[in-house]
Amino acid sequence: MKKDLLFHVFDYSDVDRAFWQEHLENWLPRRIIDGHVHFVDSRYRIETVTEELRRQYWVWEVNEMPTAQTAEWCVRTTFPGREVVCNAFGFPSLGWDIELSNEYVRTECLERNWYCCAIIRPTWASEQIDALLSRPGVIGVKPFYSLLGYTPNTRDGFINANILDFLPQEHLEVINRRHAWVVLHVPKEERLGHPDNLRQIRRIREQYPDVKLVIAHLGRSYTEYHARQGLLALADDPGIFFDNSAVLNPEVHYLALRHIGPDRIIYGTDNPPMYLRGRRQWNGRRYFNRTSVPLHFNTEREAPEIEAGYTLYMYEALRAIKDACIRLGFGANETNNLFHGNADRLIQDILKRKHELAGAGSAGDSHDKSRVATPRLPHSKVVP
Ligand SMILES: [Zn+2]
Repeated sequence: MKKDLLFHVFDYSDVDRAFWQEHLENWLPRRIIDGHVHFVDSRYRIETVTEELRRQYWVWEVNEMPTAQTAEWCVRTTFPGREVVCNAFGFPSLGWDIELSNEYVRTECLERNWYCCAIIRPTWASEQIDALLSRPGVIGVKPFYSLLGYTPNTRDGFINANILDFLPQEHLEVINRRHAWVVLHVPKEERLGHPDNLRQIRRIREQYPDVKLVIAHLGRSYTEYHARQGLLALADDPGIFFDNSAVLNPEVHYLALRHIGPDRIIYGTDNPPMYLRGRRQWNGRRYFNRTSVPLHFNTEREAPEIEAGYTLYMYEALRAIKDACIRLGFGANETNNLFHGNADRLIQDILKRKHELAGAGSAGDSHDKSRVATPRLPHSKVVP
C-alpha cells in the first residue's frame, strides 16, 4: 500500500485516497477556507512537554506543531485539487513564546495568502491587541484560558475560568472597534451550556456587537448531549458564528446545521490533531478515540480488519458534515457557504474595516507596516 508521510505520526495512504474519491471528490466545493488550523515552528517552544502531560490528554500526545511549510504540504495532500485558504494560529500555551509565534504565523500566512488570528494573553494592554490587529494578515485573535497561567502538569488548570477572565473587556473594546474575529474556545467542564458561558456570550454580543464571535468546535459539542445543552440555547442569535472543527459526530453536525443553519457555521479542521487515523465513538457525554497509531491512550484496539479501514479523523468529520447536509437537503449553495462563503464574508468585512481605520490614521495605522512594533512583555510563568 502506498503511504506518504504527512508529518509526525500521520500519514496519507491508499485508504485515504479511496475515501476521498468515494465520498468527497464530487461533493466538496472547489474553494475552501479552513477556519481553524494550528501551525508554528517548534523552535518557539520555551517549555518541555512533560511525559505526564503528554499522557494526560490524547490531544497532547498527538499535537506536535508543523512548520508552515509542513502545514501547507498536509493541506495540499489532504485536499487534492482544492483551493484552500487557512485561518491559522500557533499553540495557545505559555509553554511557547507567544509573540514570536504570532509573528512567525503571520509572516508565513502572508506568503501564502492565508490569514491568521493572534494568540493573546489576558494581561496584555489593549494597545498591544490593537497593534497586532492592525498588522497585515491578522484578522482576529485567539484567546484561551490556558493563557491565564502556566500549569506544567495539566492542561486544565484554568478550565473553569470565565470567558471574560481570559477575554477581558478592554480587549473586547479594541476587537469590537476593529470588527475582528474571535476564535472562542469555551471554558468549563460543562462546555458551552454552562450558564456562565451562555450569560457572558450574550453579554459580549450585547456590548460588543461588531466582534465577529466565532465559537470554536461548535462550543466543544463533541457529543449530541453537549450539542443539545449548549448549541440550541444560542441558535437564535444571528450574530453568533461557530466553527465546526474537531467535531466528528454526524448527529451534532445535523443539529447544528438544522438549528443554526448553513450561513453561520464555518468549516474548520483543528489540524494537526485531526490527521489522526481512526474513528470516534460516543456514549452519552463521553467520546472514545479509536486509532491504529500506537499511542499511550490507545489501550483498546479494534480488530485488525476494522483498523485496516481507518481513514483520517478530518475525513470522518467531512463525511459526517456531508451526511448532515444530505439529510437536510442542502445543495451547492449551502455547502459553498459552509466551506467558503461564510468565512469569506467575515474576512472581507474585517479587511474593509482595517482599511477604513488605516485610512483614518488611527492608532495602529498600518500604512507603514514595519513601524508597527509589538511591545514585548517579559515572560512570566504565572499570571497572578
Ligand atoms: Zn484548535
